[in-house]
Amino acid sequence: MELPVYLDHSATTPVASAVLEEMLPYFTERFGNASALYSVGAAARDGVENAREILAAALHASPDEIVFTSGGTEADNMALRGAAEANPQRRHLLTTPIEHHAVLEPLERLQHQGYELEMLPVDGEGRVDFAAATQMLRSDTLLVSVMHANNEIGTIQDIAAFGTLCRAHGILFHTDAVQSFGKLGIDVRRMQIDMLSLSGHKLHAPKGVGALYVRRGTPLARFMEGGGQERGRRGGTLNVPGIVGLGKATELSHAQMASETARLIELRDWFFERLTATIPGVRICGSRVHRMPNNIHFCLDGVQGEPVLLALDAAGICASAGSACSAGSTEPSHVLKAICVPREQARGALRLTMGGSTDQAALEYTLETLSRTVSELRLLSGSAGRR
Ligand code: PLP
Repeated sequence: MELPVYLDHSATTPVASAVLEEMLPYFTERFGNASALYSVGAAARDGVENAREILAAALHASPDEIVFTSGGTEADNMALRGAAEANPQRRHLLTTPIEHHAVLEPLERLQHQGYELEMLPVDGEGRVDFAAATQMLRSDTLLVSVMHANNEIGTIQDIAAFGTLCRAHGILFHTDAVQSFGKLGIDVRRMQIDMLSLSGHKLHAPKGVGALYVRRGTPLARFMEGGGQERGRRGGTLNVPGIVGLGKATELSHAQMASETARLIELRDWFFERLTATIPGVRICGSRVHRMPNNIHFCLDGVQGEPVLLALDAAGICASAGSACSAGSTEPSHVLKAICVPREQARGALRLTMGGSTDQAALEYTLETLSRTVSELRLLSGSAGRR
């Protein structure tokens, strides 16, 4: 087994060597501006358009419905703020309390500007209450945003059900698929999605590139002022090597999706079984059924996440106390709050997210290290005798 054991694939992933290889010529001989008319520009443009076709095929969309962005955060902002600006007559917004901050914060900004923002209820596993959603739609609802898979607890939503509901009521439907794209099958036509955000660095493409799928005919204001790139939707010289890398990573992840899903589900469920048998006082967070294949999330009674992470790091294991964005914060995550994990228990949250390099040996080593660390920390804090 090689060290480090990297178990933070939901935070970011290394660029795959085949992805890097595909990108390299676009830094040198194919360096042109994709908007230029001469042949060096055309070579860059071909690379971009090829990637656009790959992404569109993966989503069951058309190439003209793909807008390249600088990542998931920009795609979320573009979708939510752009939709609000283009539909000023509707003032009601619906989302969930477990969204990423890249969705919550643009919506909260709109709320400060006078929009009415409401949260769809979620249950203890982080599943959004569909029946409540049907009751909460209004004639002035502008859009509904429900994430496909949660970045902390890995809970997967029935996106097709929300898409179909919104389409039937003439309401825009956006989903943040940053965690699921490349890992779960997505068909934007069948799922009736109007806008979908994705990000390259979660699937072995580089950081700083992503995309927003925008269904043809969706009213959306221009997000970034500047040149006329991306059919006038997003000004700015295209990140050609990044886009080419995203195309290649999309191709690779989709080719391996079925076998990787089966492999990771087996590892994940094996780990949960061993974990609960080995360490007392463990609460598994999220759904056991509707769960990302690569996500392991649990709370440990009587310990804080941070010292556990430090001990794991000292043993060469990279893990997370929650989402990367809230790392370093002492406040329990908003996702754990929303699914009603008690504050004390939420402090002992740990997220392990697997990827292509994860095997059983790595997980066995992690479990052994974790078990030892938790016993030591509980002894130190005097909480061992309380369970
Ligand atoms: N949405 C979700 C669900 C995420 O997990 C993340 C990143 O962790 C983002 C959005 C932001 O994506 P990016 O890092 O590409 O800006």
